Amino acid sequence: MNVKQEKTLILIKPDGVMRGLIGEIIKRFEQCGLKIIGLKMVQPSKDFVARHYSGSEEWLRGMGQKALNSFAQHNVDAEKAMGTKDPLEIGRMIQQWNTGYLSSGPVVAMVIEGIYAITAVRKIIGFTIPAQADVGTIRGDYSIDSNNVANLEKRSTKNLIHAAGDEEEAAHEIKHWFSDEELVSYERCDADAMF
Ligand code: GDP
Repeated sequence: MNVKQEKTLILIKPDGVMRGLIGEIIKRFEQCGLKIIGLKMVQPSKDFVARHYSGSEEWLRGMGQKALNSFAQHNVDAEKAMGTKDPLEIGRMIQQWNTGYLSSGPVVAMVIEGIYAITAVRKIIGFTIPAQADVGTIRGDYSIDSNNVANLEKRSTKNLIHAAGDEEEAAHEIKHWFSDEELVSYERCDADAMF
């Protein structure tokens, strides 16, 4: 049987913690059979969260381009709103807001393990922009924040949660937030019934 067990990193961002949604969010992962193998609450520094993000030009440009697409969709003049139409420059601005946001309060960090966990978790958290995230996903159920509004207010989109996007990000982020000793190994007692 070719069943892929993966590990991924999740952060409940400061808005999720301050809104008292820790339990509600963790429940979503546990209930579908994903296993928590690392869990802690931290107050990260700005420098620490800056090193959490990839920060590569490609990644920044991609984030800037997504913002430009979203402005275009809503007939907002990007140049007027952001002072530039360069996706890399916009990506850099958003990144500054992201590091401020993620270090603005306590964060709950988790490592989760399970079948295709990286994809499963991304499906459960939903689309980056809560206003466009499906109902039933964490971001869609608990927020309606919009990146256009966030950009105009010069802040990060408040979307409650972060999850690694692929295997490379997951490996980097797990190592960044957890030491080997902080990760545990156990069997869930419902595993035989579920799989
Ligand atoms: P994610 O993997 O779904 O979190 O999305 P990205 O990696 O593209 O973006 C990282 C974080 O930046 C998101 O979770 C949002 O908090 C924030 N963000 C993304 N796009 C925008 C945007 O266009 N404007 C603003 N202000 N924030 C954004």
